[in-house]
Amino acid sequence: MSLEQDILAGNQLLAERNRGWFAGRDVFAVNLMSSPGAGKTSILERTIRDLRGRDIPISVLEGDQATSADAERIRAAGAAAVQINTGTGCHLDAHMVAHGVAQLALAPGSILLIENVGNLVCPALFDLGEEARVVVTSVTEGDDKPLKYPHMFRTADMLLINKLDLLPHVRFDVERCIDHARQVNPQLQVLLLSAETGEGMPAWYDWLTAQRALVMSPA
Ligand code: MG
Ligand code: ZN
Repeated sequence: MSLEQDILAGNQLLAERNRGWFAGRDVFAVNLMSSPGAGKTSILERTIRDLRGRDIPISVLEGDQATSADAERIRAAGAAAVQINTGTGCHLDAHMVAHGVAQLALAPGSILLIENVGNLVCPALFDLGEEARVVVTSVTEGDDKPLKYPHMFRTADMLLINKLDLLPHVRFDVERCIDHARQVNPQLQVLLLSAETGEGMPAWYDWLTAQRALVMSPA
């Protein structure tokens, strides 16, 4: 086995352990990935604020190379957050997630939102034990991203196209982007939204809460 295969096989074992741990506690874990600046943290902040009062515990693992700035933003929005700094590392792995989760007091039935390091390449290779994968892109990026980084879009369940409020000011063809994404992943679900204005966010909340309901064991 090559070193890369070795690392991925080791990661897979730990990811399955995380997955079992989540399943045993009815935790719905979501792995959010994007390039830097697509708005993952802003989407999470708004999600936490808007879902407050729905009686759904939400916790966040924040992956960045450095700083705890994003975890602080999440706490200010009202959710528990643990920052994972990867140093020179460019992705989260299942081992880091297991350690991060150990520092969160996850209530049964929680949604665990895992914000990966901003990078469209290797995060796609590392299973964290999540139940769903969400890739975020924004209209300030190229609508050809899905063709340039096909593995990320192929392994995702949901594509969020963010910063819809900026659409009048940029050259971004929404239909082309969706078409490119479905070329690499015909099953990919797509939502258009703006974490800034809130437009399109309710459909995202509907998806999140419906997916969570699917992993909950019958009461
Ligand atoms: Mg962030
Ligand atoms: Zn990496």
